[in-house]
Amino acid sequence: MSTSQHDFQGGYRYLFGPVPSRRLGRSLGVDLVPVKTCTFNCPFCEVGLTTAHTVARREYVPVDDVLAEFEDWLASGGEADIITVAGSGEPTLHSRFGDILAGIKACCDIPTALLTNSSLMHLPDVRAGASNASIIKASLSAWDQASFERVNQAHSSLSFETMVEGLRALRGVYSARIWMEVFLMAGVNDDPADVQKIADLAKGIRPDRVQLNTVVRPPADGQAGAVGPEALQKLAGLFEPHAELIAGFQGEPCCGATATEAEVVNMLARRPCTAADVAASFGLPQNESEVLLDQLCESGRVVSDARHDGIYYLAKS
Ligand code: SF4
Repeated sequence: MSTSQHDFQGGYRYLFGPVPSRRLGRSLGVDLVPVKTCTFNCPFCEVGLTTAHTVARREYVPVDDVLAEFEDWLASGGEADIITVAGSGEPTLHSRFGDILAGIKACCDIPTALLTNSSLMHLPDVRAGASNASIIKASLSAWDQASFERVNQAHSSLSFETMVEGLRALRGVYSARIWMEVFLMAGVNDDPADVQKIADLAKGIRPDRVQLNTVVRPPADGQAGAVGPEALQKLAGLFEPHAELIAGFQGEPCCGATATEAEVVNMLARRPCTAADVAASFGLPQNESEVLLDQLCESGRVVSDARHDGIYYLAKS
């Protein structure tokens, strides 16, 4: 039974936003675990220190209640570019996150993204649940067990090698978009030789995109330092496909700008552009331009071309 709007007068418990996201556009967040429940305790975490460091999967919040909120949000005229399942920790810890993704998909056409730290991808049930998302944004920021424990402070039961095997298995069953996020911290995991090892692992997982991020917002651990934009640019070239930078350094365009699909297609009919070119031309945040270009690719109006220096988009003639 759908819950009436009246029941949500105190606000939603599990939905937040839509908020402009550096990565995904206007994003309605769906929060599936209590603050701060995670398999990791990353020093750069924007949510704060992990208070429930666990690998225990259970129905942390009731599926019916989450979907009732979502239906109410839709019925109230809610609009977003994407529904992002993420929030206050690792969403795949929720034992029925796949049912929530499926429930959202059943009642609207808005694409969904699962933001995961990849730690539970070795579990077939997690891969099956994740397959309900339009985009899986999975992180990989270490290259072996020791770096995994340092960079992510992973739960003691987790094996780095098993996690990477899980990501490879995910690619085997999931044909939609996998975006791999590599989070780099100065002096911790930004040495080019180490980033090369991450790049080699990422290549074996065959993501559709690789995105480099670094500390921008105040992290849980004030010690986690940012990698500068020039260094990130160089490191991006180690990845295949060439990585994109998604860290929101100064100069990122403001979120109020807009572009219509027709305007973007017109520009791409004149010259191939990267997502960054489109963002700069229309004053969009990079993430919004990425979402827009992905939608245009899906509708067949634009095609992408991976070149040595990045992914270019062209209007289909
Ligand atoms: S995986 Fe994400 S939520 Fe968990 S500690 Fe790391 S940054 Fe925070």
